[in-house]
Amino acid sequence: MSPTFAQLGVPESIGRALAQRGINEPFEIQSAVLADALAGYDICGRAPTGSGKTLAFGIPLVANVDRAVPHEPRALVLAPTRELADQIKTEVQSFAGSIRVAVVYGGVGYDAQRRALRRGVDILVACPGRLEDLIDQREVSLSAVDRVVIDEADRMADMGFIPAVRRLLDQTAPEPQTMLFSATLDGDVASLTRDYQYRPVRCEVGEETPDVVAADHVFWNVANNERTEVTADVVSASGSAIVFCRTRHGCDRLARRLDRMGLQTAAIHGGRSQNQRTRALEAFAAGRVQALIATDVAARGIHVEGVDAVIHYDAPADHKTYLHRSGRTARAGKGGVVVSLVQPDQVKELRQMQRELDIQQPVTDVDLSAVRRLDGGVDRAVAPAVRAEKKRQPAADSRPRRTGPKPRGSAPKPRPRKSQRPGAKNQSRRRRNNNRRPRPANTRKQTLAKTGT
Ligand code: ADP
Ligand code: MG
Repeated sequence: MSPTFAQLGVPESIGRALAQRGINEPFEIQSAVLADALAGYDICGRAPTGSGKTLAFGIPLVANVDRAVPHEPRALVLAPTRELADQIKTEVQSFAGSIRVAVVYGGVGYDAQRRALRRGVDILVACPGRLEDLIDQREVSLSAVDRVVIDEADRMADMGFIPAVRRLLDQTAPEPQTMLFSATLDGDVASLTRDYQYRPVRCEVGEETPDVVAADHVFWNVANNERTEVTADVVSASGSAIVFCRTRHGCDRLARRLDRMGLQTAAIHGGRSQNQRTRALEAFAAGRVQALIATDVAARGIHVEGVDAVIHYDAPADHKTYLHRSGRTARAGKGGVVVSLVQPDQVKELRQMQRELDIQQPVTDVDLSAVRRLDGGVDRAVAPAVRAEKKRQPAADSRPRRTGPKPRGSAPKPRPRKSQRPGAKNQSRRRRNNNRRPRPANTRKQTLAKTGT
């Protein structure tokens, strides 16, 4: 039986706030990391999209964060896109009580963000670019930040944010607790872990290619000039779809065409203002538009519940992009269909990608019954508790795997402040070697010592 939130050490006030949203039992990644994260350990987590990572780091932040003075937040969550940052802020705020949560990202005015920082922000959610701007303007300092989350680290890497992330991590208080989450843990992400995490507790949940397992994948032969019509059919047959195009221009053009065919669509890409993007997302989430037409960057990390179909209108650049895109459906254990529109000259590349994904679907003629089998968009408001039910039927081998050092029994001993350690002055903030003592817990909140283990 999986532990309850209370057994994992989640404070009662947070448990109550979650219960009000129908969140009563932890998802796998949450069961796997909450106790250690609450106890102050570094966390390095790999889990598929929709597995509930936000609460896995959000709960420990809210439980442990200290109160900030103006301009000096105490906890920092770095996210690759504005939409994702907004979603994290909204989700964390829903159970944060009196803790002040704010979000900063580019593409919108500075005033509101400056005002919030001036008032004081305990947990700051940020996209790297705007945060660096605000630091340059002396509106914010990271020197008091002793808890950092790097969410969607693989996407940070894909988007070229790693140098900025490193610069930001170099400005925090010495040796903050770091929690890193990513769909993959190789390459640049591995080097972030190596340089900035101290003996992290590693948790890996689900398959490496989880989205392929969760959704139905179909590949259809469609000539270039028939793609719009087929897309319209899929959008109509499903309740809600996210359609991926390669370029901003392509998004706008397809949206216009679908609109002319009587569908309600909204385009979302980097060329649109933040307000337009926010409005588009809201309209889609509320069911006022049936299709969101998106570029890869814009769609990353979007969480809209009950998206019935993902359509690869333009072929994804590689298998990773295929996974990222496809992960917009079949979230939190729900089903979904992923439709690839394949032109004759793309079949060879497709085969290569399928091999990398380890899926062997044939390329067939268009078959809308694959789409109609779904619920349609009607259960977009499905209660969280129902989704949790579905989630709790894992295959026998999908239990969280803990590959890092497990913290020892009772509350770990407090760690001396860095300044008390020999040679501290000359040390870079970056962790160059991981051979020191096991990481001790947060010493300020002893009441949160682990229970039930
Ligand atoms: P990820 O960041 O891993 O992609 P999210 O944190 O966005 O996933 O969570 C996906 C959805 O599942 C969200 O709507 C969230 O509110 C919901 N959720 C998370 N944890 C639980 C839970 N324990 N029980 C029910 N719903 C949950
Ligand atoms: Mg997330």
